[in-house]
Amino acid sequence: MKRHIFKLCSFLLLGAIVNVAVAWVFVAAPVEDTPYDGLTPDEVALWNRYAPKNYAQRPDETLVSCKNIAFEWSKMYADNNDGEDNHQEFAATEYGTFLWAGWPAKSLFGYHFICQRNNVIEDEVSHGILSLRGLNTAGRVHWYPAQPLCRGFLVDTIFYAALLWMLFAAPFHFRRHRRIKRGLCPACGYPIGSNEVCTECGAPLPVPPL
Ligand SMILES: [Zn+2]
Repeated sequence: MKRHIFKLCSFLLLGAIVNVAVAWVFVAAPVEDTPYDGLTPDEVALWNRYAPKNYAQRPDETLVSCKNIAFEWSKMYADNNDGEDNHQEFAATEYGTFLWAGWPAKSLFGYHFICQRNNVIEDEVSHGILSLRGLNTAGRVHWYPAQPLCRGFLVDTIFYAALLWMLFAAPFHFRRHRRIKRGLCPACGYPIGSNEVCTECGAPLPVPPL
C-alpha cells in the first residue's frame, strides 16, 4: 500500500514538472502578435479585477493579443488623467499585461501593471510573473506566468502523470497481470509450481485462486 502511494506521488510530482515545462516552453516560443480590435467583456473584467485602485476604471484598448495552443497573453492600456486636468498630454498611460500558459488547460497565470507619464515609470505592480531575461532569444516575451491556477494546474498535472504512467509503468503492470493469468511467475515469466516462491528467480508468488 505504502509503495503504491509513493508511486502515485512520484508520478504526480513528475506530472507537475512536465506541466510547468510544457507551459514555459510555449511561453518561450515566438508567437505572432495578432492586432486586436476592441475589448471583450472578459478582458475589461480582467482589467477591473486586477488593476491597482488608483488606475483607470477600465482599459481603452487591447494593444496586442497573442494566442497559441498553450500560451495566451493580452496587453491593454488606459489613459488616466487623474481628474486634475483634462489635457491628454498630462495623462498617465497605464498598461496591463496578462499571461496564461499551460496545456491542455491553462495552468499558470500572471499579470503586470505599469504606469507611465512622459516616458517615466511612475508605478509598477507585478504578480505571479517570473522575469527571466535572456532565455528567449526572440526578444519579445521575457515574462513567465508562475502562479498556479488551481483547477487547470490539477487537470494538467493529472494529465501528464497519467501519460507518464502509460509510457513507463503500464507496460510492466500489464505484463505482470498477463503472467499471473497464464500461471507464470510475474517477475521472470517462468512457470510456477506449487511453491510459495519462484523456483527460477526466488520472487514471492501470488496465492493461486482455488
Ligand atoms: Zn520467477
